[in-house]
Amino acid sequence: MNLINFIEQFPDEHSCKRHFKQVRENQGIICKKCGSTKHYWLKSKYQWQCAECRFRTTLRSGTMFENSNLPFKKWYLAMAFMSFSKKGISAAELQRQLNHSRYRTVWSMMHRIREAMGKRDDLYKLEGMIEFDEGYFSTETKAKDKQKLKRGRGSQKKTNVSVMAESTPLEDIESGKTSKHCRYFKMKVMDSHLSDEIKTITEENFDSKSIIFSDKSTSYVDIANYVDVHVSEKSSKETTVKILPWVHIAISNAKRNLLGIYHKIKGKYLQLYLDEFCYKLNRRYFGDRLFDRLTIAMADNYWYNKD
Ligand SMILES: [Zn+2]
Repeated sequence: MNLINFIEQFPDEHSCKRHFKQVRENQGIICKKCGSTKHYWLKSKYQWQCAECRFRTTLRSGTMFENSNLPFKKWYLAMAFMSFSKKGISAAELQRQLNHSRYRTVWSMMHRIREAMGKRDDLYKLEGMIEFDEGYFSTETKAKDKQKLKRGRGSQKKTNVSVMAESTPLEDIESGKTSKHCRYFKMKVMDSHLSDEIKTITEENFDSKSIIFSDKSTSYVDIANYVDVHVSEKSSKETTVKILPWVHIAISNAKRNLLGIYHKIKGKYLQLYLDEFCYKLNRRYFGDRLFDRLTIAMADNYWYNKD
């Protein structure tokens, strides 16, 4: 999907709704009342009806569009702009493109879409050989917290982010040169550097049969309890290049990307921006299919998966 196809395929509200109905039916409608997946489509109501208990499901119910009164056309345009722009787009820019009167509405839509991106990636765990390190991102603090920061440091603070990358070592048979091939990435904002938090991150994001590479931080001592093998080396420039190349490339790209488009990010929203960054990074070879994948991410029954 590119802009030309988009204009052809989604000229009006009805075409977007019809498309979203199809996306949902491909994934399967789940009844919120009884959990049944058998449904009939009530054309006159534009709703599904459960074949077991007759409970009705609207087009938006249970999806990321639930509780939104905005037309599907606006949502589809927002998803289009966000997926067509490789680096991302600011809320102010999208507001101009959508010709929408309220900045805050557009800003919330974009965060909802980022949330869907994050939820989608959270369905998968990293596996195989994984690089693990932390990066420090500059974020803005709330006005009332500013006083707590030392004089001269302004409103900027550093937020700690754990960064993970699937990374397989490769050796060129002819030259004998080694390199590393990367696959999927994850970035998670941390409240602390404590080993308890590292434990949660390890359990939630790594397959238990993984092999983890990290530096020798004391917070990482327990990682070996949750995965097959934990290889740690003393932190140095050489370690970074040799065993943690991709996490460091991802950290510097993410910082440049976020700074270039959004300038200032409040700490509590950083995860959402990182979710968008990782979602696109993980689908870097998807090309034109990114928009279609995003409609699936918005339609998913995350409420059901959680239970
Ligand atoms: Zn039912």
